[in-house]
Amino acid sequence: MASGLGDLRTVVISVGNELLFGSTVDTNSAWLGRELAALGLPVSRRYTVRDDADEIRAAVAAGMSCSELVLVTGGLGPTHDDITRGTVSEMLGLPLKVDPGRLLQLQERFRQRGYDVLPEANRSQAEIPEGACVLDNPLGTAPGLAMESDGVLLVLLPGVPREMRAIFGGDLGALLRDRFSGRLAPVVHRMLHTTGVPESKLAEVIRAAFPDPAAYLGDGMSMAFLPDLRGVDLRLSVAHASAGEAESALNRAESALAPLVAPWRFDSESGDLAEAVLVALRRGRNTLAVAESCTAGIVSTRLTEHAGSSDVFVGGVVAYSNGVKQALLGVTTVALESGGAVSEVVAQQMALGVREAVGADVGVAITGIAGPGGGSQEKPIGTVWLAVSTDGGVRTECVLFTGDREAVRERAAQAALSLVLASVGHPSSRH
Ligand code: AMP
Ligand code: MG
Repeated sequence: MASGLGDLRTVVISVGNELLFGSTVDTNSAWLGRELAALGLPVSRRYTVRDDADEIRAAVAAGMSCSELVLVTGGLGPTHDDITRGTVSEMLGLPLKVDPGRLLQLQERFRQRGYDVLPEANRSQAEIPEGACVLDNPLGTAPGLAMESDGVLLVLLPGVPREMRAIFGGDLGALLRDRFSGRLAPVVHRMLHTTGVPESKLAEVIRAAFPDPAAYLGDGMSMAFLPDLRGVDLRLSVAHASAGEAESALNRAESALAPLVAPWRFDSESGDLAEAVLVALRRGRNTLAVAESCTAGIVSTRLTEHAGSSDVFVGGVVAYSNGVKQALLGVTTVALESGGAVSEVVAQQMALGVREAVGADVGVAITGIAGPGGGSQEKPIGTVWLAVSTDGGVRTECVLFTGDREAVRERAAQAALSLVLASVGHPSSRH
């Protein structure tokens, strides 16, 4: 097996019928993936297998053939379907031996819970493969077990997430740091958040400037495009033993990309555009009011998910019906009759109306057709008018969003936040 910085391979195997039936989501693998990357032992392969000896053996053999560290979670419980410990010890030729100290511990534990006799099923949890190192489980009866075989460190962990995490946070973390010391390369990430641009367009802009990714990605660095309904995050990742060098490599890559993504980029600790909007408004000492028709509260909800939003967000109106648009926001009959509820004039009147109604510096309005009904040739499903009213005037935008009802509503809310940011002097306004 090759050695040296960053070439350590880690394999994670999760065992459990419930994981394959889909009745339990395999959160252990995701958690281990994050923790191992942060520790400097990034996972290169994962297996999920049934509680079946052949399947477990096949996965362990495959893992051991390509890596120096194999972590197995699940199947360490006391019942007949928990066979990981027995299967692996037999496979590696490490016979199970009852550990007298552990047996006493277990008996004591059960006595404290009011059982005089240790249930037969739990005796198996005092069985340790010969030569294995026991990893203390402070939260349960099944300890973790670490074994060396053919130069590979094989670790068995209970499937119960909190127990698995507790062992990792204690004995296992210490063992891994010690065993692989000098070879750990923690993975460090940096996020560049964008919105209002499809990932294909972003990729094209970057490719046009840098036909060879090596020109902006440093040695060993990778970049992922992470799209969702709200936008595309660019995630830069680099594994390096020195935090300082990782940091400067990320700075170099970010500087190369920054001018290319500037038209769509926003900065936010949480990754949420609503947070960036709150920061921008707070900086300008502006308050915000929201009038939502087709999004019916999504923008208000997103803003108020952030603690401290009350110094910026004043309130708003869910103006779903024309009656409410008129009665609470002062939308005129003429506007509704001439252009319909989804029109520029109505959006303008809603933004101005809500701003005046609650006495805010900035008003934002959204009116659109989320579908699946209500579309027409002239105004197809996905048509959304946005407006932002400030002292400087009203700014409007019409967007035709694609996707189902959920997508249109989510994208409309995001675009409204984006328009607010552009209107209050965001440095990388796209207008
Ligand atoms: P086990 O160690 O296989 O007896 O697992 C005990 C319990 O932990 C199971 O009933 C599941 O609810 C949970 N569990 C097992 N494996 C996982 C996993 N990979 N991710 C999340 N939960 C799990
Ligand atoms: Mg199980």
